[in-house]
Amino acid sequence: MSATTVLVTGASGFVALHVVDVLLSKNYPVIGTVRSAEKGDKILKQFQTKYPNATLRFEIVKDIAEEGAFDEVLKQNKGIKYVLHTASPFSFGFETSPEDAYLKPAVEGTLNVLKAIKKYAPQVTNVIITSSFASVLNYDKVADQSFIHTEKTWNPITWEQARVDEHAAYIASKTLAEKAAWDFVEKEKPSFELTTLLPPYIFGPQVFEDALQSGKLNTSCELINDVLKTNPGDGADDPTKFTKDGLLSVDVRDVALFHVLAFEKNLGNKRLFPVQGKFSQQAFLNIVNKDFPELKGKIATGTPQAAEDALKSYPAYDNSESAKLTGVQFIPLEKSVVDTVQQILHYKKKHGLPLK
Ligand code: NDP
Repeated sequence: MSATTVLVTGASGFVALHVVDVLLSKNYPVIGTVRSAEKGDKILKQFQTKYPNATLRFEIVKDIAEEGAFDEVLKQNKGIKYVLHTASPFSFGFETSPEDAYLKPAVEGTLNVLKAIKKYAPQVTNVIITSSFASVLNYDKVADQSFIHTEKTWNPITWEQARVDEHAAYIASKTLAEKAAWDFVEKEKPSFELTTLLPPYIFGPQVFEDALQSGKLNTSCELINDVLKTNPGDGADDPTKFTKDGLLSVDVRDVALFHVLAFEKNLGNKRLFPVQGKFSQQAFLNIVNKDFPELKGKIATGTPQAAEDALKSYPAYDNSESAKLTGVQFIPLEKSVVDTVQQILHYKKKHGLPLK
């Protein structure tokens, strides 16, 4: 492969498939890491149908947390110039300890990539890590509109505070993994430049429809799928039912673009913060009830005005620096939701499944 090859870790994931899609649309040769040959074969066929001239192949990395996990990939592929590290556990319900389920793969996985690049791939110029708004969020300031979350803000969470439940463990794992990456760069002074991305909840359609097969989507998009599973009266007795879990969001297509722009525009040594705005499940309900008349009367309406009222209880932010550096005009929430729901309904109709 040529010297502009891009390595994408965790290439079977929701975000990573979009990243690979953008890369192939721009004719970059791509190597993806996946956990099994079956996963790689399936994705390869799907992308070859979409991009018949694509230069794409997969390497197996069964567990990013294992010491030396990426050594062979970086040793064997001297054409890799850019590394986009997306792999990290983002689902819940693990039966192992929070350390094994989240912390180790997030932190060790990140360090394993960076160490392998430093040792075997001095030709790599840019490393982009999919961190998260998790590593920015200050829990105690969520509703404080005078506290502005920016590219410079760090979540002060410690692992000791986090191990109590798996959501906190996920948040801490992302924060500590990103810190470990910046510490690595400071101490080891590698020849590549690091960029970390801080997306909040990521929504939008799947690259390939087969992700809808099980009826359950990836963790973030399942929040949209969940509102399609509501019943008309749900939330009638509790106006805050659908606004409790709101936060910030961004469309997956913009996140994918950020991964690529980070090296194309040489935005090294930066944290980039892609955000379109705030969301709640009530906002999803308002959009779906307005834009999908076929679902009217079949799902909840909740308390429509609660979506607007709840905005002040979600974190204040300013990502104007990232918007300026990348030039990205963020896809609005309504489009993310409409495209996601359209894909779900299309899949259900095609396969003769009930709409809800
Ligand atoms: P997915 O669960 O769809 O993708 C995660 C990917 O990581 C999968 O390819 C998964 O492989 C791989 N992976 C996880 N653990 C391991 C491991 N131990 N060894 C090897 N591979 C592993 O999640 P998303 O696409 O949503 O998330 C991608 C990245 O974006 C993550 O770093 C996540 O933290 C971050 N992020 C996501 C947000 C969102 O709302 N979706 C928000 C902010 C950040 P497999 O499929 O085989 O399990």
